[in-house]
Amino acid sequence: MSEARTAASAIAPAVGPATGNGLAQRNGRQPAATSALEPHVAALLELLGEDPTRPGLVRTPHRVAEALSWLTRGYRQDVAEVVGGAIFEEAHESMVLVRDIELYSLCEHHLLPFFGKAHIAYVPDGRIVGLSKLPRIVDVFARRLQVQERLTDQIADAIEEVLRPRGVGVVIEASHLCMMMRGVEKQNSRTVTSAMRGLFRDCPMTRDEFLRLVHE
Ligand SMILES: [Zn+2]
Repeated sequence: MSEARTAASAIAPAVGPATGNGLAQRNGRQPAATSALEPHVAALLELLGEDPTRPGLVRTPHRVAEALSWLTRGYRQDVAEVVGGAIFEEAHESMVLVRDIELYSLCEHHLLPFFGKAHIAYVPDGRIVGLSKLPRIVDVFARRLQVQERLTDQIADAIEEVLRPRGVGVVIEASHLCMMMRGVEKQNSRTVTSAMRGLFRDCPMTRDEFLRLVHE
């Protein structure tokens, strides 16, 4: 666990703004219309030795383009928009934890899925966020091309930015199809990353409580 934590925080400085526009927009590029992707998918099928005109594949470029667009819709979403007005003044001072948030993303190195669970906790500082918003914040960043380390940091940074809590902790446990189906073919390995901010970084008791609750 401590190794993963070091890995995640070591990447933090390169991450850039956590909320607001996605990486595509930050690079000055807008996602193309789905229909513009279709000929490229057809070309890919052909290059793989397939016949894109055979009946089983005729609609595949359309379906793949739609699927890819949907799986990367986080580029067109914004944390502030997703959270909306769901921030409430509240004197609650103890840890709030949402555990086992389902997560599906695409690795940016192979465009293959990685999937697993996110656990998010924060200690409020006068404000709480609607609980259903935390999974939605996860999706804003998971539905992009990602590496798990950056995804973990971006979720923590976004919650810190919208909520200004006393601390926030994020743990992600995920399986990567690029490891399971190809290369090393390690079917049972899971990658664990964590990002700790504020009290979760500075106070061992808070961090230990979080990690204990996650693994209960
Ligand atoms: Zn990969």
